Amino acid sequence: MPDAAAEEPAGDGLPTATVILKPKRARPFFGRHPWVLDAAVLRVEGDPTDGAVVDLATHDGQFVARGLFNSASRLRVRLYAFDPATKLDAGFWRSRLEAAVRLRRTLGLDAPEGAARLVNSEGDDLSGLIVDRYGAYLAVQVTALAMACRLETICDALCDLVGPQGILLRGAERGLATLEGLHLADRVVRGAAPPGPIFVAERGLRFGVDLTEGQKTGSYLDQRDNRHAAAAYARGRRVLDMFCYAGGFSVACAVAGRAASVLAVDSSAKAAALARANADLNGAANIAVETADAFEKLDALKAAGERFGMVVLDPPKFARSRASLDDALRAYHRINRVAADLLEPGGILVTCSCSGSVSRDDFLEILAGVAQRARRPIQLLECRGAAPDHPVSASCLEGEYLKCVIARVP
Ligand code: SAH
Repeated sequence: MPDAAAEEPAGDGLPTATVILKPKRARPFFGRHPWVLDAAVLRVEGDPTDGAVVDLATHDGQFVARGLFNSASRLRVRLYAFDPATKLDAGFWRSRLEAAVRLRRTLGLDAPEGAARLVNSEGDDLSGLIVDRYGAYLAVQVTALAMACRLETICDALCDLVGPQGILLRGAERGLATLEGLHLADRVVRGAAPPGPIFVAERGLRFGVDLTEGQKTGSYLDQRDNRHAAAAYARGRRVLDMFCYAGGFSVACAVAGRAASVLAVDSSAKAAALARANADLNGAANIAVETADAFEKLDALKAAGERFGMVVLDPPKFARSRASLDDALRAYHRINRVAADLLEPGGILVTCSCSGSVSRDDFLEILAGVAQRARRPIQLLECRGAAPDHPVSASCLEGEYLKCVIARVP
């Protein structure tokens, strides 16, 4: 299959076909939900190419919305406009990107040496597009074929609006190629890649980010505010940062939070090396970094009778789908249970889940289960989500995936 970024369907942003919904299936789309699944589609009038602009209409011909078509995806149409006068042309994409960039300015996240998510897919009415800014570089993740087709237009606008030294295309999540028929290789789309890791500022701390090899687009910007919220409880405590990746929570707790000491653990040796480098970069000599499996390490710490004043759990997505939900819930229970056992009386648990299919209620129920099994109360202090440069569309709550609970275990 060719690189999907190759072709943008010709056109002036006006529809080339109409996708007709089955009777009684239009309500979510009048409600601005942007995902039209194949199961809701009655028929397609016209012969749209993948990535082409199409209108969505009710079975009796009423206009609902305008979007982009993909025959290869179950997500048959992604909707971008709800007014028939709006053309999905270059000017349209530019104005959406401009609005997204303006929001980050409003949030105070436009310092040149900082890092922020500039575009958060549905949360910025740009379904299928993620753009993260790390200093003078942009990392773009495309999760929809329709966005891949418009990569050139999008990069032109981003160059104009942000003036980056380079724009890198980073691979999207596993499995996406099959879902969207999207085959994109990581590459530099504009300018040049940075010669090595680049350094970004985060609330007085500094972090090295590897834009070409790092996880996600290089770091976990969604946890920015949670790292600092956690740090506010760390003073004088012995902290365990489990699933530490590049040491974001560790450095925030050790330096900004003045923790007594931090043990940072990740199963990836690369991640552990990043955490070590970031600890050194911030002069945090009291951070010890270990490469180990979290499940084994938690059990070993418990068996050794170790105690901590704070435990941070920020695991990868345990539930990749609804089917694996039960396994995921069990895994969350297990690590939180051991974490509770490791906490000294009055200890702080910072526990996260980035599985979209685990709801906030599911996650809190896990903590209730842990309290029951551990025979200790759990006091919820803060129930947090992703930082505000990761906005969620009220019409598409599927975009809300991150839970970060800060709790006290008396
Ligand atoms: N807390 C980090 C992000 C963590 S991402 C931050 O704020 O930046 C999740 C991390 O868990 C990844 O670095 C991954 O390497 C690690 N990981 C995945 N499975 C693991 C396991 N079984 N044991 C330990 N670490 C694991």
